[in-house]
Amino acid sequence: MKVPPEILSLIQENKSFLITIHINPDGDALGSSIALFLGLRKRGKDVSVITKGDVPEMFKFLPFSDVIGKAVPDKIFDVLFIIDCGDIKRTGLKDLKAKKTVIIDHHLTETDNAGVKWVDSGAGATGEMVYLLLNSLDVSMDEAIATNLYTAIFTDTGGFRYPNTKSETLRIAAGLIEAGVDPWKIAQEVYESISQGRFRLITESLSTLERRGSIAWIIVTQEMYKKTGTAAADTENFANYPRMIKGVEVSMLFRELDNGGYKVSLRSKDRVNVAKIAESLGGGGHYNAAGCELHGTLQEVKERVLRAIIENSDGSGN
Ligand code: 5GP
Ligand code: MN
Repeated sequence: MKVPPEILSLIQENKSFLITIHINPDGDALGSSIALFLGLRKRGKDVSVITKGDVPEMFKFLPFSDVIGKAVPDKIFDVLFIIDCGDIKRTGLKDLKAKKTVIIDHHLTETDNAGVKWVDSGAGATGEMVYLLLNSLDVSMDEAIATNLYTAIFTDTGGFRYPNTKSETLRIAAGLIEAGVDPWKIAQEVYESISQGRFRLITESLSTLERRGSIAWIIVTQEMYKKTGTAAADTENFANYPRMIKGVEVSMLFRELDNGGYKVSLRSKDRVNVAKIAESLGGGGHYNAAGCELHGTLQEVKERVLRAIIENSDGSGN
């Protein structure tokens, strides 16, 4: 993996940078963007980072998570970075003003044609790409940057378990530990700090389990949030649970939205490309993890997704 020289010169030659990430940001989007913010600041740049909505509670432990703002600054930046997604539409933000755009992403789908693109679907996480970028800029790795990048990589590889975990992923992680990361502390923050309400939401949702052959799914309703005092951000990782069942190849979470629709999260073990399925339904994502938003009753949405899975799974894995 090599950093495009064009991105390095854009950074060297410019002064003001706006960083943004996808809507409903995950650990990779947040950790990568904060690390890039800190790295560019170390190089004396004027940097802002914004996202639509609030930083999820579970990621507030990230050093400098409070630098992420919500308000779109009313100025023209030299360079706009779109991080961990390939299309400005995925940021959910409007009126972003910049002379140049740079996309840094590792998704299979959703690539925009705007500006300079560095999209590497072989990267385990966008955090790996930002690590290489900061190294190429000779930014010294400190504990805060390293913790953000480690969390980015740790969360997107499911704790170094998913097939996107490559030798380079572990080499980068080793470098981050040498720079001061405490792996067990981050593992506890990510996987072992569930609120009691969220734990109850897990049990409510797991009890909705349904299965059709090698496809299994669970549901989260608005009613469940009320009952357990939780919110949509508390469903992080839920789609993975039905995949834990032996013989299940595709697992899903149907999460009821407050506008009558459903957010569908798809996960696969290996032979099914869920990015392709999600894309056929207007969404996108990775080979083994993708999502989309659909409108209709739960029954209608379920049938549409099940049909799309069957139509897109020809057994070849493509
Ligand atoms: P999740 O199911 O955890 O929300 O998302 C899994 C992966 O699919 C993430 O990489 C996310 O960026 C992508 N993804 C989820 N929903 C959508 C969507 O509606 N559109 C697109 N293009 N990608 C999505
Ligand atoms: Mn990512």
